[in-house]
Amino acid sequence: MEAHIHLAAMQACLGEPDILTKPEDMAPYCIDQRRRYKGNAWAVLLPRSVAQVQTILRYCHTHNIPITPQGGNTGLCGGATPLASLNGKGFLLAMGRLNRVREVNTADNTITVDAGMILAQVQQAARAADRYFPLSLASEGTCQIGGNIACNAGGLNVVRYGTARDLVLGLEYVLPNGTLVSHLQPLHKNTTGYELRQQIIGSEGTLAVITGATLKLYAQPQSVQTAWIGLNSIQAAVALLGAVKNRFAERLSSFELISDQALALSAQYSQHTPPVAAAWHVLLELTDSLPQAALDDPLIEVLSAGNWLNAVIAQSDTERQHLWLLRENISAAQRHLGASIKHDIAVPIAQVADFIETCAQAMDKLHPNTQLVIFGHLGDGSLHYNVFLPHVLNNAVYDFETDINATVYEQVLAHHGTIAAEHGIGQLKTHWLTKVRSTEEIAWMRAQKDHFDPHHVLNPGKVIPATD
Ligand SMILES: Cc1cc2nc3c(=O)[nH]c(=O)nc-3n(C[C@H](O)[C@H](O)[C@H](O)COP(=O)(O)OP(=O)(O)OC[C@H]3O[C@@H](n4cnc5c(N)ncnc54)[C@H](O)[C@@H]3O)c2cc1C
Repeated sequence: MEAHIHLAAMQACLGEPDILTKPEDMAPYCIDQRRRYKGNAWAVLLPRSVAQVQTILRYCHTHNIPITPQGGNTGLCGGATPLASLNGKGFLLAMGRLNRVREVNTADNTITVDAGMILAQVQQAARAADRYFPLSLASEGTCQIGGNIACNAGGLNVVRYGTARDLVLGLEYVLPNGTLVSHLQPLHKNTTGYELRQQIIGSEGTLAVITGATLKLYAQPQSVQTAWIGLNSIQAAVALLGAVKNRFAERLSSFELISDQALALSAQYSQHTPPVAAAWHVLLELTDSLPQAALDDPLIEVLSAGNWLNAVIAQSDTERQHLWLLRENISAAQRHLGASIKHDIAVPIAQVADFIETCAQAMDKLHPNTQLVIFGHLGDGSLHYNVFLPHVLNNAVYDFETDINATVYEQVLAHHGTIAAEHGIGQLKTHWLTKVRSTEEIAWMRAQKDHFDPHHVLNPGKVIPATD
């Protein structure tokens, strides 16, 4: 009965085609992309305007109705899936129909877009204006810029351009009580009191719903050089990173580390031959906004000086795409293999080698037959550290999660790292937050949540640990 009344109110706000209520229509929204979390809702709401988002949030706030914001649903921590314990009460707010470019401003080098735009479309709109938007992830064909900002996404180009947080100049968002906060000016400087924008960025839809953003654009790279280097140790990969950074500075835009196991999986899945044989692999890319910047000779000099000669330098755009495909297909290849315990961690670059060695020893003690699939953005110290138990390749692997997580995170913390580098906390890691943030910090987070969302209706059960 309760649901019936609230559905009628949403129908009045949105109109029939923008509400999904049939289980088969709602199903893809109600399960996360790893197929680990399932939730439900009275309906999936698909607003087409910021005013509709305001009306929906105001209504949910007034009537104490849980509402879960969702972008492209590519998140890896269950943040966009309604909590199962809500038993289907509430709404899911899917942002994909709010997807226009609002303005491209080539004087200020910015683009202003709706939050529901797919990341690849934002990149395309920048390209159409002869500019470059550097945020890039393997999920860019599906994830939305609002979701990227809500998670403070990282991806492949952080070493040069920073995370989503560094690329947002202006933000528009709706608070749980329906109030619109809009600062979409393309200002590179603005010191007017506390920076609220940065508080919303990375808050995973728990403080506000992001509806628009003004993003930084850059000159398009005109020269690109991509290389794949095989190495026999992580220490060699870290040394190579230091040498390349030292020589190329900001021209280094990506520096990805890939273990042999990760490459073997991806090569089989992609039906491509690995470029070289080695225990560890680096995929690096150098870019310059000047045409014919002749990046290859100095790259060959660096590789020769360090004796890093088990290498392939892409000679054409097709070769470059093949190298990147091997990197970008690792996630899909893992999914094909089965379920694993995934970790999105970062440690200081100087500690990466020791972390990987010590953690492998600890994992071996815990489960002697684990298969570790390690890859990630070594250029910024973040790694995907995924643990497969070859005898349990389905969701039963999560029964082993507590011990495996404890082992990995103990090593991460011993190496001064973080348990969430770029995927956020969602519902997956709320209980780990107390291990990495102080009691005072968590109390401050709770106070912020209480202030923004006093009825706790917006994305309940995410980020902040439940009180006992
Ligand atoms: C193959 C693959 C590769 C990936 N690679 C990377 C990578 O390299 N780097 C990286 O950082 N991540 C990566 N991810 C994770 C994921 O793609 C990112 O976290 C992405 O930023 C999520 O965007 P989304 O639109 O899919 O958000 P969703 O999954 O829909 O939501 C994520 C969180 O943001 C909230 N949210 C979504 N939209 C809004 C909004 N408009 N307002 C407020 N809150 C909102 C949701 O409530 C949820 O808490 C990868 C995922 C896959 C599947």
